[in-house]
This record gives sequence, structure tokens and C-alpha cells, in this order.
Amino acid sequence: LTSGLETAWNKLKGEEVLSKENIVEPMRDIRRALLEADVSLPVVRRFVQSVSDQAVGVGVIRGVRPDQQLVKIVHDELVKLMGGEVSELVFAKSGPTVILLAGLQGVGKTTVCAKLANYLKKQGKSCMLVAGDVYRPAAIDQLSILGKQVDVPVYTAGTDVKPSEIAKQGLEEAKRKKIDVVIVDTAGRLQIDKTMMDELKEVKRALNPTEVLLVVDAMTGQEAAALVTTFNLEIGITGAILTKLDGDSRGGAALSVKEGNIADFLKDKLGEPVSGKPIKLVGRGERMEDLEPFYPDRMAGRILGMGDVLSFVEKAQEVMRKEDAEELQKKIMSAKFDFNDFLKQTRTVAKMGSVSRVIGMIPGMGKVTPSQIRDAEKNLQNMEVMIEAMTPEEREKPELLAESPVRRKRVAQDSGKTEQQVSQLVAQLFQMRVRMKNLMGVMESGSLPTLSN
Ligand code: GDP
Ligand code: MG
Repeated sequence: LTSGLETAWNKLKGEEVLSKENIVEPMRDIRRALLEADVSLPVVRRFVQSVSDQAVGVGVIRGVRPDQQLVKIVHDELVKLMGGEVSELVFAKSGPTVILLAGLQGVGKTTVCAKLANYLKKQGKSCMLVAGDVYRPAAIDQLSILGKQVDVPVYTAGTDVKPSEIAKQGLEEAKRKKIDVVIVDTAGRLQIDKTMMDELKEVKRALNPTEVLLVVDAMTGQEAAALVTTFNLEIGITGAILTKLDGDSRGGAALSVKEGNIADFLKDKLGEPVSGKPIKLVGRGERMEDLEPFYPDRMAGRILGMGDVLSFVEKAQEVMRKEDAEELQKKIMSAKFDFNDFLKQTRTVAKMGSVSRVIGMIPGMGKVTPSQIRDAEKNLQNMEVMIEAMTPEEREKPELLAESPVRRKRVAQDSGKTEQQVSQLVAQLFQMRVRMKNLMGVMESGSLPTLSN
């Protein structure tokens, strides 16, 4: 998916703004990339439409290239598709929280039981596992072994007791022991069938669980959408856990889009808000530690493989409003860039985070050494102090300082810097005017005034 999208961005290199015409090709690439990643067609269609609409209307942000802007739009749309916000587990207000796990055979339910207990234990909650898969003795053993591994008690009652009965007994035991969270394992089938659903319904009735989580193998592809829908209609679920994200043959990207499929599909088919049935957790391996909350934005960032560009664009949008950018542009064009603008610029950089972070975010910038960064940051501070020591008139008309050694001397004294430093700053401003003019594509290079002594 990532490489397919890369092609899309590359087609925009060299363009000035996003337009109806120049996004046609990139959008085709995005569409193809999504389809290849096994995202269902209706979702792809809507996704592409929404991104196109937004892209055409977007204004110019100075310092952000159109391809970067499109990355940002696609990213935000992916986040939306995957449910937007992080969705936390819900805990019961009183008594034990009951988490019922459901899902097809082999998806990782039993493993998730232990992983989840391990995860919650770290948050200071006491847990208990209940062996509700009574069809294979091996399933009970497996849960017992995993429970021991993470040091959590496991309630078992053999294979002769009905799952709903075991669940009830387990819950009673947990109440007696004042356990915070009870996690109930259930049996799965290779396919959805009525016996499994009926059994799950019965277990659910017996428990009145706080969370009913459908465990879904990430490799399921678009099928995941249908699975979630069926389980939700039949037994009612509160969310999903996506397992085996580590084992994706086409890269985590492909799978992560499918995660979105689930949330999106639910919203469409059931008319429920996306947040109603979110992906709450993801499994990324076989170890007990390999379970984590599902972060839609991180996942989207990974799909795009361009996390850094994204935060750069975001920061630039945040700190530099369009009007500011345009005004600045005008000033640069007319060579009116003064010390006030200079100050605004350095403060913009400061607001965007430390210089080091900003430099690190700019694509194509090579490695910058820590000492270079320290120097740059120190420089910015010095500049601010000197500019603050200037009169408003001097700030607006840097020529005054260029012409008058007396003025420069006063600024040096008031700011505690040397006259040489002040001279350098003044020279730098004029250099910046020239450089910015060049940057704006104005060919005339302008001339550097020499400082009179
Ligand atoms: P159940 O039938 O749903 O209870 O599935 P199990 O918990 O028995 O898991 C089936 C297999 O999938 C086991 O070999 C697990 O180790 C493996 N498994 C579970 N979760 C993950 C995961 O996130 N990543 C990987 N690579 N394997 C997993
Ligand atoms: Mg199992």
C-alpha cells in the first residue's frame, strides 16, 4: 500500500496547488493501492470521493507542498475511516468488569485472554480467566498454561458443564475473591454456525458482560466487515480486537485499512456511530506483551509511512494562518521584510517546537548534529534579545541600523551583545530579504547594502 501511495504523491511534485485536474492521477493510484490492500469497493469509492472533494478546496499553505497536503488529507481520512479516536476499554462501576471474548476458531481468543489479563494487571487490576471452551480439553489446558505464565488465576470446570454455567460459576468466584476483571474464553468454529451463536447468546445472558469483544484475525481481509456485522446482529458486541497484525504478508498497511473497514461497515449497515463498535486493541505477536490499544492515527501514519511529513504539515497549519502567510509573502516580494517579521518568523519556529524537531521533520534535510542544533537555538535566542532592544522605528526600517553605527552600538549595549553581533544580525536580515525573494521565485537577486562604519 505504501509504495502505491508513494507513486501518487510523486505525481504532484512540482505542482503549485491541488486542483481538480492534477489530483486525477494521484487519486487513481490511491484507489488502486486501497483495492490491492483488500479494502472493500464501497469503502474505497467513498474514501476517494471524500479525499478528492477536500483536496480541491484546500488553500495554499506557505512552505507546504501540495503533495504533502494531499498526504495530510488522506491521512486524516484514514483516521476517520478507522474510527477516529482511541477507544478505551469500559470498566464496570461496581463489581467485577466482565469481558466476554468471541470469534471464529484459531483467531487468537485464548491467547488474547492471557494477553489482556497481562495488560490489565500492569494497570493494577486483578484478573481472572474463565475457561468457557468446553469442546476440547486441550483448550482448557492451553488457557491454564497461559494463565500461569502471566500469573493470573484460571477458573475451570472441566468439559461436562455447560459454558453458560461455567461462566456463572466463574463470575461468582470472582465476586467472592473481589477480582476486578473477569475474562471469559469461548469456543469458536471455523465458520459461523447457529450452535456457536446460541451458545454465545446463552453465555452472554448468564454474565451480563461489560464488554463483548469480537476477536478478528487481521488476515481475514474484507470478510472482517461481514463477520463483525453478523456477530453484532446475533449477540451484540461492544468492539473488536484485531490479532496477528504482525503476520501480514502485504505489510501492516494493508491490514490496517481493513480495520477501518470494520468500523466503517458498521456505521453504514447499522446506522451506528463509528465509535459505537470500535477496534479497541490489537495483537501483534505471540508473546504475552504483544497486545496494545488501537491508535487510528498511528496506524494511518504507518500506512502512509510518512509520519514526519504529517506532523510538519500539521504544525505549519497550526502556527501559520493563511493570512499571515500571504502578508508575509507580500512583504517579501516588495522587500519590506523587517525585524518585526523576522521576530514573528523566529517565534513561529519556536512555536513549531525546537529547531531540532522542525529540521528533523523537513523532508530531504540531512542529519543535523546536536551541536549544530544547539548553536542554531542559541542564535535564535540572541536574535530575539537584540531585536527587542531596537526601537519600533528601527525594527520597521532596518536601513536605519545599517546606516548608523551609533544605533547599532546602543542596541548592542541594551541587549548585552557585542556590536559585531548586532552588525551581523542586520546584515543577516538583508541577506534574508534577498534569499526569500529568490525563494519566492523572483529572479532579480537584489543587492546587499554594505554597512557604513
Ligand atoms: P483461538 O482458537 O481463537 O483460541 O486461538 P488461539 O488463541 O489458540 O491462537 C491460535 C494461534 O494463533 C496460536 O498459535 C497463537 O499463538 C497464534 N496467535 C494469536 N494471536 C497472535 C498474534 O497477534 N500474532 C501472531 N503471530 N500469532 C498469534
Ligand atoms: Mg481457544
